[in-house]
Formats: sequence, structure tokens, C-alpha cells
Amino acid sequence: MTKLKPPRGTRDLFGVDLARHRYVASVAGEVARTYGFAEIETPVFEAASVFDRSLGETSDVVSKEMYGFKTRDDGELYCLRPENTASVMRAFLSNGMQQSVPARLYYSGPMFRHERPQKGRYRQFYQFGVELVGAASPLADVDVIACGYDILCRLGLEGRVMVKINTLGDGISRLAFRDALVAYFSGHKDKLSEDSRARLRKNPLRILDSKDDGDRALLPNAPTFDDHLNADSQKFFKTVCEGLTRLGIPWQRDDMLVRGLDYYCHTAFEFVTTDLGAQGTVLGGGRYDGLIELLGGPSIPGVGFASGIDRLALLLDHIQPRTDVVALVPVGEASEAFCQPLAHQLRRAGFSIDMAYDGNVGKRMKRANRVGAWASVVIGDDELSASQATVRLMTTGDQHSVAMDQLETFLRASQETGVQ
Ligand code: ATP
Ligand code: MG
Repeated sequence: MTKLKPPRGTRDLFGVDLARHRYVASVAGEVARTYGFAEIETPVFEAASVFDRSLGETSDVVSKEMYGFKTRDDGELYCLRPENTASVMRAFLSNGMQQSVPARLYYSGPMFRHERPQKGRYRQFYQFGVELVGAASPLADVDVIACGYDILCRLGLEGRVMVKINTLGDGISRLAFRDALVAYFSGHKDKLSEDSRARLRKNPLRILDSKDDGDRALLPNAPTFDDHLNADSQKFFKTVCEGLTRLGIPWQRDDMLVRGLDYYCHTAFEFVTTDLGAQGTVLGGGRYDGLIELLGGPSIPGVGFASGIDRLALLLDHIQPRTDVVALVPVGEASEAFCQPLAHQLRRAGFSIDMAYDGNVGKRMKRANRVGAWASVVIGDDELSASQATVRLMTTGDQHSVAMDQLETFLRASQETGVQ
């Protein structure tokens, strides 16, 4: 029989890998809450129009990467979400959140894109993101970038990532820039990739985002955003940059940075690491003032980011996530009989207890290591008669004789002080 495998570009997550994913999402959630963001969870599939309208039908995501399907009941076209900003804006409108702006929302969960799988690039991947909706001030952009930076610092990545930032300007500046790009690239049409020739008609800004070498060779002499920014846009960008500097966030201007999606204006930013090769972008975001209108809502500005949990988890491969498991190790029959109710009592007290059903001490201690127990509690005949347990703290190897009636207190204190 052929061996069953998960679909191409997807993985089963368990053990240490899953623990790292969960760790990234939980740290990110904690930090986001300090900025006043509250969690939202939307369906993993939406009407296709949610993404067609917002991302633009010519975007890579919509034209090549979406998973769509028709339902049996209404024949409507649905899509697995390729990203979550559009879904969260759809939820914002569906639930009348316009009444209480600014809304501060965060999410984490799986996204789906039909891409060529490689390290750090999957067909089902996980994002954490925040959306600050209904705030037009550049200070909101600063807050959102600061939140992303804080998350990466809390994950221990300070010094390993850099913030690249650019401005796309307001609608007027963007149009002027677009015209200049069309004029420039039209003069080099023969050197453009096929994709970029199509972009030239539909969305020339995306040529700047191209990964094709021929396209990239044309970029150094291309017109720059700066020459087309009006005074308002310049002022907006200056306030963002100054705000970041004031908070001590290291940033670098990258005037080639455009985000792949249609709806961005003003600020665009990415946090990049050199540690993951081509898949070095771990977080990207920007301002999307026109998005809610594209979805048929009123004109409400917004700014946010999405970060790649899979890529962040890869950067944390030096971290051995801790478990909260305590291994209970009875030695001999009398102890076995004693330990079953003891396990029950400890579990009711909130401890996570692993106890094998058979095996000698050696085998049981091996298992304690395998499940990543932070402590093992060994109880043999001597311990039984003295009403004691031998507690071994697995990372340090320290052993303690603990009176049975003090066992819970001892374990709790060790767990709280992080001795494990
Ligand atoms: P890339 O240029 O790497 O394709 P993107 O511009 O398509 O990224 P966004 O849509 O901005 O990515 O998503 C934000 C973040 O989500 C990315 O910076 C990345 O960390 C992560 N991400 C995007 N696509 C994938 C994927 N297929 N697998 C794993 N992580 C991904
Ligand atoms: Mg992509």
C-alpha cells in the first residue's frame, strides 16, 4: 500500500515544532494585548469576492495562488483565505464595528496559497497579524510597527531583524508615480518578463516587487517614489519615521519596497532577517485606507501587519520549548498501587502527570526524557516507608528528598521559579 502523506506544501505539526508555533502565537498575542488589540477569529473560507475585490484580480495571490471551490448548496464560489486582512475587514463591516472606531483586532491562524513549496514557504502556513481600523494618524502606523518590533524582540530576535520602510504616498502621489513608471518601463518592454509586461497594463507598481532577474536589472534606473510625493505625503512619512526613531526602533528606508497587494497607501514596511535565505521576510504590513471601500463599506482608514509564524518558528530552532509534564516513576508493585491515586490527586491539583503503565526505572526515566518532563518524581520502597519522594529536576539533574505532604508545594514552587 502506498504510504499516506499530507498534501504537498503542508505539514503535520506536533511535538517541538508545534510547541514553537504555539509559543510564537502566544507571545505575539500577549504583546498585541499590551497595545490594546483584542482577538478575532474569522472563518478559514470566505466568498471569493472578499479577496477578488480587495486584493485585485491581477494580484499574484488572486490570479495564481488561491484555492477556490463551489459549495453543493448554493453553487457560490468560495476561497480558502490566502490572507486575513480582507476577512477581518469583512468581519468589521458584517458586525457593525464602524460604531466603535478605532477598532484594534489581532488574529492568528492558517492561510492557504498555491505556491511552490520550499523551506519557509508552504501551501498551508500560519500568520499572526494586527489591524488598527479607523485611525488616519501616522501615529497609528508608528504604534503598529512598534507592536511588530516588540513581538520580535520578545521572541529574542532583536539584532537579527531589521525594519525596512517606504511610503507609497496618498492616492494622488501614487497616480503620478504610476504614470512615471509606465513611461519608463514602456521604453524597456522587450527586457521585461512576461508577467511584468502584463503588470505594466494592469498594475505597474508590482513590477517593483518582481522576483525576476531581468525585471530587477531595470530597477536601479527606475523613477522613485520620492520624486512624486506631494507635500502631504512627505509630511505623513516624516512623522512615521520620526516616531520610530523616538521609540528607538532601528529602521532603514527602502524606496523599492512595495507590498504585493493592491490596497496599500502611505506606509509600507517589512521586517527582514538574513537568516532564512530567500524567505527572509518575517513580517509585512502597511496602511490600507481604501480597502474597506473596495469591500463596499464606507471610507475608513486602516493600518496593520501580518507575520509568518512558520518562518519565526524556524528562527527559534535553538529554543527547546518547555513542557509542563511531571513524570511519576513508581518502583515496585507497592509503589505502583500507591502512585495511581497520587497521579489522580496531582492532576486534580492542576499538574500534568505522565505515568507509564509498565517498565522498570530505567525504561520509565527514558520515557520521562522523551516526553520532555521537567521533573520526575521517583517513589520506591524506601521512599514509601519514609513517606517521601525523590524529585529530580531534569534540566539541572538536581535531586531533592521531599516529604510527601510537601510534594505539591515543592513542585509548584519549582515550576513558578522556572527551575524546570
Ligand atoms: P513573499 O514575498 O515571501 O511571498 P508575501 O509578500 O507574499 O511574502 P505577505 O502576504 O505580506 O507575504 O504575508 C506576510 C508574511 O507571511 C510574510 O512576510 C511571510 O513571513 C509569511 N508568508 C507569506 N506567504 C507564506 C508562505 N507561503 N509560507 C510561509 N509563510 C508565508
Ligand atoms: Mg508571496
